[in-house]
Amino acid sequence: MSNRYDAIIIGGGHNGLTCAFYLARAGMKVRVLERRDIVGGACVTEEFHPGFRNSTASYTVSLLRPKVIADMKLHERGFRIIERTISNFFPFENDYLKLGGGPGRTEAEFARFNKKDAEAYPHYDAALEKVAQVLRDIALKCPPNVGGGVRSLLAAAQQGWPIAGLGLDVQRDLLDIFTKSARDFLDGWFEHDYVKTAFGFDAVVGNYAGVSTPGSAYVLLHHVFGEVNGKFGAWGHSVGGMGAITQAMARACAEYGVEISLEAPVSKVLVNNGKATGVKLESGEELYAPTIAANVGPALLYRQLVDSSDLDADFNRRIKNYKTGSGTFRMNVALSELPDFTVLPGKEKAEHHTAGIIIAPGMDYMDQAFIDAQTGGWSKKPIIEIKLPSTIDDSLAPPGQHVASLFCQQFDPKVDWDKHREKVADLIIDTVNDHAPNFKSAVIARQIHSPLDLERKFGLIGGDIFHGNMGLDQLWAARPVLGHGDYRSPIKGLYMCGSGTHPGGGVTGAPGHNAAAEIIRDRGTLWKALHRSR
Ligand SMILES: Cc1cc2nc3c(=O)[nH]c(=O)nc-3n(C[C@H](O)[C@H](O)[C@H](O)COP(=O)(O)OP(=O)(O)OC[C@H]3O[C@@H](n4cnc5c(N)ncnc54)[C@H](O)[C@@H]3O)c2cc1C
Repeated sequence: MSNRYDAIIIGGGHNGLTCAFYLARAGMKVRVLERRDIVGGACVTEEFHPGFRNSTASYTVSLLRPKVIADMKLHERGFRIIERTISNFFPFENDYLKLGGGPGRTEAEFARFNKKDAEAYPHYDAALEKVAQVLRDIALKCPPNVGGGVRSLLAAAQQGWPIAGLGLDVQRDLLDIFTKSARDFLDGWFEHDYVKTAFGFDAVVGNYAGVSTPGSAYVLLHHVFGEVNGKFGAWGHSVGGMGAITQAMARACAEYGVEISLEAPVSKVLVNNGKATGVKLESGEELYAPTIAANVGPALLYRQLVDSSDLDADFNRRIKNYKTGSGTFRMNVALSELPDFTVLPGKEKAEHHTAGIIIAPGMDYMDQAFIDAQTGGWSKKPIIEIKLPSTIDDSLAPPGQHVASLFCQQFDPKVDWDKHREKVADLIIDTVNDHAPNFKSAVIARQIHSPLDLERKFGLIGGDIFHGNMGLDQLWAARPVLGHGDYRSPIKGLYMCGSGTHPGGGVTGAPGHNAAAEIIRDRGTLWKALHRSR
């Protein structure tokens, strides 16, 4: 392999691969350097116990932009999504709630608890959908760069104009979503705690916060702007696990000649006179390119790979204060049988086993989980989403057996997790067992990812699943730092193409797509400038 490229990508996560694909398709010679022995970052499938495979980190798909799927021809390369029959199942103390499953079913479920909430639901759904559309419209657009001149002003006007054209009701909802807590927002729509819980859960996923924390309503929205097979807001299962997405992406890259190196950790971005010139690997090898795109998060890039002397004091200070730490604990378990829920008994596969099963019985439960984590390091009664992908995908577990993803919220990233990891894993399994009493005895093996393990394995600083907090102060033009929301770093030739840029975390492909567009635009500008001066 050569040591000179048009572009080097640091990290082979799904956004790094997406960026590499678009650059290579534009004719550039691209090299991807991935630290692990597998591409995909947080979007991978791995065997965690002999015969049992699962999505190691991210586990469900919705946000991946249809344009990225189409451009990279992911369906032709093996990516297939199975829609959920019902979206979620919430076991409560003496009852349960099922969400989704076709026209009228959610309303009928809500009506069992509160008739007014059942009537309000279609209006809530329509309002949220209008706001989600705003997010969809800007997801594949570069945010305006504050202080970036006429082009930025035009970009701001272009992206702001459609919002100005929306009805006052949508503008009000938009303001609510961006500023309110999930609790305040949902109080404005519903009465019954179970109904609010069904939507409030989305606000604490990957968000180290309670449902009463101001700004938490936005995270709720971030989880509904996706779509599956054209159905807005739906979530689905990627056959073969999430790794099937990134394996298909790697194949798309290969078709355009992208060179991908595994077990190739980068230790430093090389900078000369304020311009990125290449990278140094941990092996000591140096590779050179006029364009470097960092798929790693801003905290890792600027605190570890870029020399602080190459950044000004103000930028260094802001990056030091960039907020990471989503408070997430992620386990995979191998199971001998399906969980038998007290409130909906049965070990034979039923539709609730194929849903996202949410252990978060109440809005207060979710707030208490956050309070516990702040005071004692983790919640005494954790919030857990259980997904049993083997109920719809027989490629993951031996016949008759199952795998479960346990995605758990409110675990302080600052805890010494080497000391407490096993104890907390036991607590999580016990909590599921409280609702499905055969669960503990069905566990054959478990794989634990505390926040510290997420950092060590995936390079997610503070275990942050989104490469940084998704609060208003770190969104859109301010992600990661105001003035650099347009994928360009303070160092010429160094770009950011991961989830720490707009539109943020999730398996979207959007940051990789948008960063590539800006890189190509800059090269075009440079090319024209060089051409003119001749
Ligand atoms: C536990 C968990 C659950 C999640 N669940 C979901 C979900 O169900 N659905 C969803 O849509 N999203 C989910 N997410 C979020 C989503 O997975 C991420 O936002 C997304 O995968 C990030 O993609 P990325 O390409 O931007 O970065 P990453 O996937 O983080 O990729 C960055 C890459 O850089 C590599 N790297 C790090 N350091 C170096 C170095 N020094 N040199 C070279 N390479 C390096 C890493 O190994 C990694 O491959 C989840 C995330 C986690 C962690």
